[in-house]
Parts: sequence; structure tokens; C-alpha cells
Amino acid sequence: MKQLTMYALVLVLAIFTGCEHEKEHDHDDHPHDDGATLTLDNCESSFGLGVDPFYSTYFSCVDVVASGNNTVITSNNLPPYESWYYGTTDENYIEFVSQGAGYYLNPNTISSQDLTISIVDNPITKGLTINDALVDGIVGTNSDEYGMGAVGVALNGVAIFNPLAAPGDDIEDEKFSFDYFSGHPTNTGYYHYHSSTKGPLEVLSHKGLIQTPTVGSGEIELYGMMCDGTLILGCTELDGSAPPNSDFDAQNGHVHDITDGTSVFFSNRYHTHICTDTYTGHKFTPEIQYYEGCN
Ligand SMILES: [Zn+2]
Ligand SMILES: [Zn+2]
Repeated sequence: MKQLTMYALVLVLAIFTGCEHEKEHDHDDHPHDDGATLTLDNCESSFGLGVDPFYSTYFSCVDVVASGNNTVITSNNLPPYESWYYGTTDENYIEFVSQGAGYYLNPNTISSQDLTISIVDNPITKGLTINDALVDGIVGTNSDEYGMGAVGVALNGVAIFNPLAAPGDDIEDEKFSFDYFSGHPTNTGYYHYHSSTKGPLEVLSHKGLIQTPTVGSGEIELYGMMCDGTLILGCTELDGSAPPNSDFDAQNGHVHDITDGTSVFFSNRYHTHICTDTYTGHKFTPEIQYYEGCN
């Protein structure tokens, strides 16, 4: 009898732990399969010990840790807003709406990714003169181009790609498949940006840093960070002032302190500005790595 009781207890325990395991497994595989739309209110973020306050001030929907001389940003790359590129059964799915003549729906569907961007805290310049010869918009013309795939991360945890379309494609045509947030997924479901987008501006608004999350009109426009430590800003500097553009290089980049007016987050840091109506020289994410090493 005692033995039978023991047996029953073990059986009950096995079922119980089995259930627990199943639940956790489900949670990992489907981060927002709980009937709720994924938004900036409920996406998960964490900032580890020793992480520069810049990251917790400006990023959401990411996990950030300090690791040696690097800051490592990871996310599941699911955009925290509605898109017709979510699967039709997903809570974040909306029906396609054409944004003008020539716009189309690409056949790909957003899926969860393991986005990891590791940024050296004190990047070393390559010493390049970034001119029109380097910034040619063509894949594979020199070794200082950012690679294909995820080479940066936006403030909302979404991947940033370089401005180079796959061979045979034209990046200027890619915009016709963008959703409301100027993003689209690859054929492996890897959702990403190539240019300015209101996605990161909505993070700034959600954090109470700006009131107008509209591209070109944000009180502050910061989009994200590339793997070599290059920052991407918009029509403003981080303190909201207009960028002095006289020293822009061929991808609207220049070097100065990145400050919110109170704290200098990065001194003498290379960054680019995407502000398509005002600074028409370059309308996309940077093509050329100013700093050594994307690791
Ligand atoms: Zn693309
Ligand atoms: Zn600037």
C-alpha cells in the first residue's frame, strides 16, 4: 500500500513538472501568443549591470548586457506594432493597405529571430574618407561595406539592414513593399528597416522624450545603432537641435559629441542623419562602416 502511494505521488509529480515544462516551452516559442497585441506597453526589456544609461534611456523591447568591452543588444525582432507582414492569425496582423501607386505586399511573413548586435564601447576609426566613390549603393564594391542581413538595431528592437539591395534588385524599389513603419520581412521572415521609420520615434514618444513620433517632425529623432558603434539620427541631434550639415560626408555622417544637452553619452562619435526632405544626399541607413569591427 505504501509502495502504491509512493508510485502515485511520483506519477503526480511527473505530470505536474511535465505541465510546467510544456507551459514554459510554449512561452518561449510564442512570445506573444497569449491573445494580446504586442506593443511598447507589453514588450519585454532588460538592462544588465554596468550597461551605459544611454541604452535604458532610448531603447525598448531589447535585452542589453555589458560584456567585457562590448555592449550586447538582443531581441526577438518582432515589431511592437501592427503590420500586414504578421501571419494572418497573429494578434498584430492587419490587412494590407496600399500606400500609393506601385505599392505591393511582398510574400513573406514575420517570424521571431535571434537578433544579436554586439557593439564595442570604444570603437576605433578605420580612418576612411567616406565619399561618393565608397557610398555607391552597390553590393560588394569594397570591404568596408556593412554586411547583408542584420547589422544594426533600432530603438524598438527591430533589425537595421544596410541600404544595399540584393544583386539584381534596386533599393529605391524596395520602399514599395514597406508597411506603415517602413519595414518589411525577408524570405526567412527577418523584418527590418533600411531608412527612417516612425517605429523608433514611437519609442521616444512612449518614454516621454518627444511628443511627435512623425518622421521628419520629431522633437528628437534617433533611430538606432549599427554594429560598429555608428549611431543613426534623423533631422535632429540628440538634444533636438538641427544638425550642422556643412561637414556631412557622402552618407550624411559626421563626428561630434552625442549629448542630450545634459549628459554626453558618446564623445566624438561618428553618426549619420537620415532626413530625406532636408539632407537629400543620402536617404538610407549608412553603407560604409566608419569604425573597425562588427562582431
Ligand atoms: Zn529590405
Ligand atoms: Zn550630428
